[in-house]
Amino acid sequence: MSRYARHVALEQVGAPGQERIGESTALIIGLGGLGCATASYLTCAGVGRLLLCDFDTVDETNLGRQTLYGPQDIGQLKAVRAASRLAVMNPDVRLTEIPDRLSGNALIEAVGLADVVLDCCDNFATRFQVNDAAVANRRMLVSGAAIRLEGQLAVFGPDYAKSPCYRCLYQEADESLDSCAGNGVLGPVPGVVGTMMAVEALKIVAGIAVPTGILNIYDDLSTEWCKVKIRRRRNCPACRAD
Ligand SMILES: [Zn+2]
Repeated sequence: MSRYARHVALEQVGAPGQERIGESTALIIGLGGLGCATASYLTCAGVGRLLLCDFDTVDETNLGRQTLYGPQDIGQLKAVRAASRLAVMNPDVRLTEIPDRLSGNALIEAVGLADVVLDCCDNFATRFQVNDAAVANRRMLVSGAAIRLEGQLAVFGPDYAKSPCYRCLYQEADESLDSCAGNGVLGPVPGVVGTMMAVEALKIVAGIAVPTGILNIYDDLSTEWCKVKIRRRRNCPACRAD
C-alpha cells in the first residue's frame, strides 16, 4: 500500500477506495495520445486489470504526442508496445493486450469484462460501436476526444434508461472532427483530456460520485473549460432501442 499512500491519505479514497481500484478492470479502446495518457495514470494508480485494445501500429507521426512509444517502436503493434512499457511502471497491474479492431459480439464481451470503459479512439464509427456496447452492458463510459486545440470529455451511464448516451450527443459522424491526420493537434492536448479521463475512471471505480451526461469542452487558446448539459434524445438508436 505504500505505493498508493497519497491515495490512501485522501479522505475521498482511503484504503477502501484504493482496494476497490485494485480490484477493478478498465478497458481502453485506442492507444493513441488519449490512450497513452489514460493508460499511464491508471497503471500508476494500481488498477487491477487493464485491457489494452488497439489494432494499429506505431507510426513516426505518432511520436509527438503518444508518450508510451519511441523510435524503436515504429511499425510494431501499439497494444504490445504499450503493455511492455506499462508493465515496467507497475508490475502489479494485469495487462491484457488486444491488438484487434473489436466489433460486434467481441466488443460487447470485452466491455462486459470491464467496470469502466475509456473511449480513446479517433473515429466516429468506433465511438458509436463502443457506446452501443456500453449501453448493452450498462457500463460506465468515459469518452474523450482531442483535435487541433480543443478537447472534449464526457461520462455516460450506467443508467441509460434515464440518462443520455454518446449517440444522444452525436447522431452522425462529423468528418471534420474525425482524425488528427487531416486536422492536426497540439501534442499535449490529448494528454490533458486523457489525464482527465483517468481521473473520472478512478473516481468511478473508487466509488466517488461522477457527474454524467455533461460535455466538458476545453479550449486551449483561451485555457477555458465550458460545460454543456447533454439532453437525452427521444429517438436515440442506442439508449432508446430497448
Ligand atoms: Zn442515447
